[in-house]
Amino acid sequence: MPSPVLSIVAPIYNEADNISELYRRVCEVMDSTGESWELLLVNDGSTDASAEFIQQLASQDGRVRPIIFARNFGHQIAVTAGLDYSRGQAVVIIDADLQDPPEVILDLIAKWREGFEVVYAIRSEREGEGWFKLVTASLFYRMIVKITDVKIPLDAGDFRLLDRKVVNVLNQMRERHRFLRGMSAWVGFRQVGVPYKRAARLAGETKYPFRKMFRLAINAITGFSYFPLQLATYVGFFSAGISILSIPVVITLRLWGSQAPLVGQATTLIAVLFLGGVQLISLGILGEYIGRLYDEAKGRPLYIVREAPPDLDRTTNQKD
Ligand code: UDP
Ligand code: MG
Repeated sequence: MPSPVLSIVAPIYNEADNISELYRRVCEVMDSTGESWELLLVNDGSTDASAEFIQQLASQDGRVRPIIFARNFGHQIAVTAGLDYSRGQAVVIIDADLQDPPEVILDLIAKWREGFEVVYAIRSEREGEGWFKLVTASLFYRMIVKITDVKIPLDAGDFRLLDRKVVNVLNQMRERHRFLRGMSAWVGFRQVGVPYKRAARLAGETKYPFRKMFRLAINAITGFSYFPLQLATYVGFFSAGISILSIPVVITLRLWGSQAPLVGQATTLIAVLFLGGVQLISLGILGEYIGRLYDEAKGRPLYIVREAPPDLDRTTNQKD
């Protein structure tokens, strides 16, 4: 079978109630382009009937290609597997819960036809999300832009189109703690954003509780910045500076017969606790980076598939 022009990648974790509607809407949109296409459904260790639904769709329609993970590996890894197995000249990443309307794919393709190699969809409006998610997401994107060296577009999620050239580069970046939005900004190429209205989830509830969002944020920061490591240096210089300045002040006060430098127990305690805290936080930050180094050193495969199309080398998850 010749390679399709377009690949659609959807990561799936307990989305049994969304899969058939996703398939229906993707079919409608993609058939209207007149191009050949494939839909890669990556089952990220779902505990509901998602895997069976995916297999069933694949047996009815050869354009649906199932990738079934051996367990849950996380959203970013599921998308990575989809990119690995995709064969299209352009690959679209889309959420399976229909928060990213498949109809927007047409706008993404139009920009791709104009020659852009990364077309990301910007959430101009979001429906059906709580204020906590909105505020934390907004703060997060703004902070990332401030402290990293990569120009990560504001308010863009993983919903995007990537040209084959970009996908090939991303497939060589086998880092474990992935932040794909950052990675696809880091690679360069001609990039452009397309605004869209993010819909509410069709069925089910979010698979991104605060804990996972927090991990993703830490991955984004550690993956693209040394700023947290440098923080210890800054605080160190600051407190060393204060103590150096205080020495002559204290000596002078004592020489003048002042008792002030002797009555500072509370100040001493606060200073000790403050520095102890700063040191522990710095250790924790170091630990985050060292843990990541250790994970990379182990060099385990990013994901394990139970069933997948036969065109990849299973041991490395790399194309032959
Ligand atoms: N997802 C996944 N593995 C996970 C968590 C989520 O494959 O461990 C998928 C999920 O099925 C959905 C997409 O990632 O298709 C986005 O997740 P979700 O909609 O729960 O995140 P939110 O939109 O609430 O940020
Ligand atoms: Mg969602």
